[in-house]
Amino acid sequence: MYFIANWKMFGGFSSLNSLNKVIKFLRGFKNNKIVKIIYCPPSTLINAMSKKLKNTKIEVGSQNCHENENYGAFTGSINSKILKDAGAKYIIIGHSENRQTGENDELINKKIKSALKLNLRVIFCIGEKLVEKKKKITKRVLKNQINLGLRNIKNKNKILIAYEPVWSIGTGLIPKSNELFNTVTFIKKILKNNKVLYGGSVNPKNINQLKQINNIDGFLIGGASQETKKFIDIIKKTYI
Ligand code: PEP
Repeated sequence: MYFIANWKMFGGFSSLNSLNKVIKFLRGFKNNKIVKIIYCPPSTLINAMSKKLKNTKIEVGSQNCHENENYGAFTGSINSKILKDAGAKYIIIGHSENRQTGENDELINKKIKSALKLNLRVIFCIGEKLVEKKKKITKRVLKNQINLGLRNIKNKNKILIAYEPVWSIGTGLIPKSNELFNTVTFIKKILKNNKVLYGGSVNPKNINQLKQINNIDGFLIGGASQETKKFIDIIKKTYI
């Protein structure tokens, strides 16, 4: 199971101290061989975090990247090459918070290709908006996002899918268990060999419900991952 922490635009260098607890927890955790923890902090912390986690099994990722894999005159941007050099092994691409501010499927496709060229793993986010859910077009939306986002990408084995309904992110709402099971099944029918994670308001309370859904391969956790105790509780409770 994957547990991916998306710190979003939160955290400074002092936040790295909070990792001590997670490192200690993982060392003593009986399921540590089957748990994969990945931290995606703000870009400024990637290098320091990957150094801190060097002798642990926890890996570091970025929350986004520029689409050009080569160096270039793109002021203020960071590409896969720079992120890899800083220590990132994963990149979240297509997060709905970035789609909302203008990132379209074509751009997402370019970003995914750039990350794969650099041999990085991709956490590809897809998900429907509330209006799309109400119109009952979730499957069509997801299929479209997958087809366009992964257009002309033959080797998909470095791609993890994060199904994140937009209406669920940061709202405290999660899908009904049967709906979530069906949606993940649908995604796995299209992408037979890819892991599918769920993201959207995962917390220590609803993890008991979410862990019952037996086709989910892990969780992408935003708000709750910024509090170490909650993040550790989510992992512990998944295996109780
Ligand atoms: C996210 O940002 O990917 C996310 C799932 O956020 P939250 O857990 O806060 O809903």
